[in-house]
This record gives sequence, structure tokens and C-alpha cells, in this order.
Amino acid sequence: MRLYINDVAVRDGFQIEKVFVPTATKIEVINQLARTGLHKIEVTSFVSAKAIPALADANEVLAGIDRVPGVVYVALVPNIRGVQNAVATARKPTEMNAVVSASETHNRANINRRHEESIAELPTMVKLAHDAGMKITMSLSTTFGCPFEGHVSEDVVLSFVERFRNLGFDGISLADTTGMANPRQVRDLTRKVLARFPPPDDTYYTLHFHNTRGMGLANVVAGIEAGVRSFDGSVSGLGGCPFAPGATGNICTEDMVNMLEDMGFDTRVDLAKLLAVARRIPVVVGHDVPGQVMKAGQTLELHEPPEFLRN
Ligand code: ZN
Repeated sequence: MRLYINDVAVRDGFQIEKVFVPTATKIEVINQLARTGLHKIEVTSFVSAKAIPALADANEVLAGIDRVPGVVYVALVPNIRGVQNAVATARKPTEMNAVVSASETHNRANINRRHEESIAELPTMVKLAHDAGMKITMSLSTTFGCPFEGHVSEDVVLSFVERFRNLGFDGISLADTTGMANPRQVRDLTRKVLARFPPPDDTYYTLHFHNTRGMGLANVVAGIEAGVRSFDGSVSGLGGCPFAPGATGNICTEDMVNMLEDMGFDTRVDLAKLLAVARRIPVVVGHDVPGQVMKAGQTLELHEPPEFLRN
């Protein structure tokens, strides 16, 4: 079964690093990732440079990266201004990704707006993107729980999905922003979403998990069981949670690929190439990262038996 694997490390991961990752390094990492067989790469964000200085070089990154045929290059756009900037840049992203939180409090904490303010901008954002011949998708943050409000009801999620579909978004990502989802919840909720609003294709719905509490890869398996075929990860597991110091970030892309390929799924990703990118990340960010396969080796990377068994 074909699965679609997306990497968000350069945006979701680098954005919380204390040290600015040089533009040239970002470009190198993106170019390396683009040659691993990944479906999408989230390369930057059109947010205010004051809010997220780590991604202030959006235009330079987009201008500098190679465009590998078949790879979808994504930029995050939090509002109308973000879409305008993405449309106006010299070398555009393939796709834009807007974001709204399922919880009101998280929406205000994350993008400093009330729900109604965010939602009021969405029709214009979709129109601007489509007029420019670009796709625009929507990420629903805190789909599986909010660090301020707790549980998010399934009805709230379903009504957001319905609204996004009616607005004409080209895809919907259900994001477990702070790693609160568990596999049973993922299976039940995504099954309901897919049954109520069937996807036009295998990449319409994406699941975006953080491994904050160690449930990330179990949640991926639950998502596949429910019928989802597209998943976000972050190379080397880079990332974190602004509300929980010390918490791990997104699920690790190469750990996910290793698991899925072992299970017999077709990810189209060259794991050896992806591991080479992962092993570079600690040097780039200057600290250890959560990825496990990059330390342990692929499952069938065999070892010499102990000395006493050899002769
Ligand atoms: Zn995230």
C-alpha cells in the first residue's frame, strides 16, 4: 500500500531553535531532503519576522532551493498577509498551508487571533491562492487535545472539517500539536472524518503527530487503520513544544519510514539517504536530537556476532 510521507523539520523544527540556522544551511538540508523520495517538504513560513525570527528568510530560502520534479514545496501562511507574501515572492512555493486551532485559547496563543477573526480571512486566502494558480491546504491544530483547554470534542473537529471543505481548501491536515492524541482516539476520530467527508484522493487528509508523550508512531498505525495515507514527520525528530520545555518534537520521519517499510508499506523514501540527512541535523542545531534509527541503524543492519561465536 502506497503511503505519502512529508517532512516539516525545516519549518516546525527550526522555528523553535534558539540559534538561527543560516539560510544556506536550510537550503542544503531542503535540497538533500528533496532527493530522498519524500512527497512534500514544508520549507518555510510567511509569518512576521518579529514573531518567528528563525524563519525571517522565507524569500531567500524559496529563491535558493532546487525544485526536484514531483516534490511539493510547502510554505505556512497564518493569515491573508502571509498568502499575499507567498504569492508575491519571486519563486513561489508549490503549495501553501494555512492554520487554525480547534481550540479558541490555542488559536489566540498561536496566531494571536480569535476563531472568528481567523475564519473570516479564510475565503480571501483561498481565493488569492487559487487566483495565483497555487494550492492551499488547511491544518487544524490541537485536533486531538489542547494544552490549555484539554479535550477537544469530535463534533468541533467535524464541523471545522466541513467548513474547510466548503471553503475549497485543497487538503486538510489534522494536527496533534502538543502530542496529546492516543491511538484509539486517532482511529475513532479519523474514521468518522473519512466516513462523513470522504477524501477525493489519498493525499487530501494528512495526520501530523508530535511524539511529546511517546505515542507518535502508534498513532500513525492507528491512522493507517482508519484509512489515512499521508503523514507528516520531522527528520531526526527535530522540534519541540513551546508550552512544555524539554518535550520532544514531531514524530521522527526516518523512524516512521523504517517502521512502515518493515511493515510492508510503500513509502517511496530512500531510508539510507534520509538517515544521512538526519545524522547531519545535530551538527546543524548544535544539540542531540530524538531520532532513534539514526543511532541504532536500520532494522536489518546486521551486526557481527560476539567474538566467542566466531572462528
Ligand atoms: Zn507541529
